[in-house]
Parts: sequence; C-alpha cells; structure tokens
Amino acid sequence: MIDQVRGWIDASARVVVLSGAGISTDSGIPDFRGPQGVWTKDPLAEKLSNIHYYLADPEVRRRAWKSRIASPAWDAKPNAGHLAIVELERRGKLHALITQNIDELHQRAGNSPDRVIEVHGSMRRFMCWGCGMRGPMEEALERVRSGEEDPACRDCGGILKSDTISFGQALVPEVIDRALQAAAEADFFLAVGTSLQVYPVAGAVEIARRAGARVVIVNAEPTPFDAIADAVLDGSISEVLPAITSGRESASRFRH
Ligand code: NAD
Repeated sequence: MIDQVRGWIDASARVVVLSGAGISTDSGIPDFRGPQGVWTKDPLAEKLSNIHYYLADPEVRRRAWKSRIASPAWDAKPNAGHLAIVELERRGKLHALITQNIDELHQRAGNSPDRVIEVHGSMRRFMCWGCGMRGPMEEALERVRSGEEDPACRDCGGILKSDTISFGQALVPEVIDRALQAAAEADFFLAVGTSLQVYPVAGAVEIARRAGARVVIVNAEPTPFDAIADAVLDGSISEVLPAITSGRESASRFRH
C-alpha cells in the first residue's frame, strides 16, 4: 500500500495536506483525543480551551496561563513527519498545507508560511478579547512569570488569550474559506494526524473527494472518513509520511 500511495503522489500535481495534532506527538506535544491526549487524560482540561469558561472565570484563565507556560511546544522541534511535507513542497507538489495545529512546527520545519493555512491560529501570539490587539506570546508569558496571574491588555484592560480559536469561538471566515477552496483544487488530499471530528475543517475531506481528488488518511485511530478514502494508513506518522512523500529513488529505503 505504501508503494501505491507513493505512486499516486508521484503522479499528482496539487497535493493538499490537512494536518492535526497527531503529526506533532512525535515532537513531544500531546494531542487532545489520542490515547495519550490531554483531554483523554484530564477531561477538565477541555474547559481551558473553551471560550465561555475562559471569559467567565478568572480561575480558568489563571490555570490556562500556567498551562501555556508549561507547554512542551516551546522547546519542540519538527519531526520526520513535518520534514516529509517540506519535501513535498521542495518537489513542487504542495498546493496548500491546511493545519489545525497552533504550534507553527510546519513553518519551523521549512514550509513557506504562505502555503500554510492555520485554521486555528497560533499559540505563539496573544490577542486581546476586548480590542483585538495582538503581540508575541512571549511578552504575555514574561508578565505571568513576573507574577501577573491573569495579565490584562495594556491598551484597554481587556482579557488576553492566545491567538488561537478556542472551542465556542468563531473561525475566521476568510481563513476557512481559503482552506476549503484549496481542498476543492486538490488532485491528491492527505489528512494526517487528525481525528477529523472538528467541522468545518473535517469537511475538507469530502470537498476534495467530490472534486475528484484521491484521498489518503494517515492516522493511528479510525476516523469518520475512512470509508471514503482511497487508502488509510494507520502506522506512525513520522515513519509513514517520509515513506510516501519521498521520490522514487530514496523511497526504497523505507520498503518493508
Ligand atoms: P485529535 O487530538 O482530535 O486527533 C489526533 C489524532 O492523531 C488521533 O486520532 C491519534 O490517534 C492520532 N495520532 C497521534 N499521534 C500519532 C502518531 N504519531 N501517528 C499516527 N497517528 C497519531 O487532533 P485534531 O484532530 O488535530 O484536533 C485537536 C484540536 O486541538 C486541533 O484543532 C488543534 O487546534 C488543537 N491541538 C493542537 C496541537 C498542536 O498544535 N500540536 C496539539 C493539541 C491540540
């Protein structure tokens, strides 16, 4: 199956990748819903990602700031899965990289920022809920480290949060439109490391399928879209992706 998928990619001109938290677990960042997921292990953690609890409860915000400071993402390095997608871009095949991730590891791995569509924003920026002011997250974290448990906006006194889309918060229409448009333009669609449970992003799989793209899912657990995929590969992402995205010569190294 690996060889067949690699052949499909070799024959494609417009590969669109949709990535989720699973591509970053081998970089040491836990996902939400996998067996070692943050929510699987601590269901209360879901509150920290919910905008209604976050705005209503200062205690939730204090916990959220502590958890941001402690995030393993600050020291995380891209892994072989991220690098495999850089290889797709180097080969001129990557049309767009839609990511639900907020860790910026795709850009750190070497994908051009203009190909990466971040539908859930970035944890490396903060934003003010009151006036919309944005800035580098490090600035806000420095205030927390210096003793402000729930730092307020210096311009308007509003509530600060990470510049990511929390649950219950609206997506940015232009960004999601761009992502779904890219899915419609794909001739090969690769969903990787996502449980495909969050809409409308998960709908990109069906959009690509209807537009005639081949669809391949790389994920350790089943997803609701497995039945419409041309192939489902459930191995480790950092092993499977390099095997399917590298050109013909180098791929022989990965053959089982
Ligand atoms: P998810 O947690 O719902 O699903 C991740 C999937 O990846 C799981 O089905 C799991 O089995 C699979 N997986 C994990 N590691 C794998 C590996 N090494 N090989 C193969 N499969 C693996 O993730 P999601 O669908 O992206 O939804 C979670 C939401 O939370 C996203 O919208 C994202 O914004 C956010 N999130 C982001 C990060 C990050 O930026 N790294 C981390 C956690 C959550």
